[in-house]
Amino acid sequence: MKRNFIEDSINYLKYAGKHKDISIPVSELKHLEIEIPEPGQDTAPKKEEVAKIIYKDKLPDGSVIRDAGSFAMIKETWMDSDSMQVLDGNINSCSKCPLHETRSNFVFGTGNHQADVMLIGEAPGAEEDKQGKPFVGRAGNLLTDILKAINFTREEVFICNILKCRPPENRNPLPEEIVKCEPYLMKQLELVRPKFILCLGTFAGQTMLRAKEPLGKMRGKIFNFKYSDITAKLMVTYHPAALLRNPNWKRPTWEDVQLFRKEYDKEKKN
Ligand code: SF4
Repeated sequence: MKRNFIEDSINYLKYAGKHKDISIPVSELKHLEIEIPEPGQDTAPKKEEVAKIIYKDKLPDGSVIRDAGSFAMIKETWMDSDSMQVLDGNINSCSKCPLHETRSNFVFGTGNHQADVMLIGEAPGAEEDKQGKPFVGRAGNLLTDILKAINFTREEVFICNILKCRPPENRNPLPEEIVKCEPYLMKQLELVRPKFILCLGTFAGQTMLRAKEPLGKMRGKIFNFKYSDITAKLMVTYHPAALLRNPNWKRPTWEDVQLFRKEYDKEKKN
């Protein structure tokens, strides 16, 4: 039964992705009134039926539906973690990608485990790797200042990265590393259940939005993010490390975070 369900679900997902240019997580299948086949059932007629469904018509305007990915279908022990502490314990000795060989510390993330706001960066740098904490050092201090400027403290938000281990020499994350590590981030999202997500840098933005656009095209906008039963407002802005390299990006970042705060305040009032 399990195998049949998995295979057919993957087929549906592939089909939907290919033909409608979007991906549907498995949890959405029921919501979209797609019947899960019985074991041994001939799925050919079902696939024809699926072909006729206009998925986009069923989604609210401006939605970003995040692909759950094949990882969602292969059960692993850590997926049952019912708190962030348990999840940390279950994944902090991960060796799924070669980055475990060069890391000094696994960097799970820090802050409020029930935060309304989640900040997602790219990967730990040298100082983060040394301390086992995200956004420390110069870029981290700048992030603290940015948060302070829009009336957030580091303690009230949750801060983490797409990758939990440092890429050597701070090189860009490789796609295969992101694929391996991202499920942990999505589990963190499920546990924290943020209402607002701020992606710091191109990789965080592209990964969360399943986009290929450069940062300049992703920033300055509010996306309706949906993953499983989580909905959040999502924005993308520059990574603090990039601001240290290019101070010209400070102004657009300031505009982004002000808009982010405004949206947050608006939701809090309602
Ligand atoms: S980067 Fe992620 S997938 Fe790779 S070893 Fe570290 S925790 Fe595991």
